[in-house]
Amino acid sequence: MDDCVFCRIIKGDIPSDKVYEDEYITVIRDINPMKPVHLLVLPKKHYTDILDFAQCPDHDAVHEAILQAIPKLAEQEGVKESGFSVITNCGPDGGQSVFHLHFHLIGGDKIHWAKLAD
Ligand code: AMP
Repeated sequence: MDDCVFCRIIKGDIPSDKVYEDEYITVIRDINPMKPVHLLVLPKKHYTDILDFAQCPDHDAVHEAILQAIPKLAEQEGVKESGFSVITNCGPDGGQSVFHLHFHLIGGDKIHWAKLAD
């Protein structure tokens, strides 16, 4: 997907602050962090969103990689004890702006859901 910013980051065509990578996922720091810790977990394969991911028959290994990475990332970022949120936005009302599936891992400060909304 040449026109997908996250595909281009994963390929290394666009610079990013990468914090983790394995066979299935790349994890970068969000360019516009909402809280002191704001990572983006990006599957290397292009899925548009969680709906696309859910219906893709080959998603098990990616799913597993994400579940394995989250505790390690939380520990690495120092938020495992204090807590954090994992969020994926889907579609226009979900506020999705980049149409390559990604999970925000956000922490380092208390998250007030009401204040997340515009
Ligand atoms: P969403 O609105 O859920 O689609 O989230 C997209 C996220 O990607 C936003 O939080 C942006 O700040 C972030 N973002 C967009 N471009 C980049 C980039 N080049 N490097 C890092 N994060 C980015």
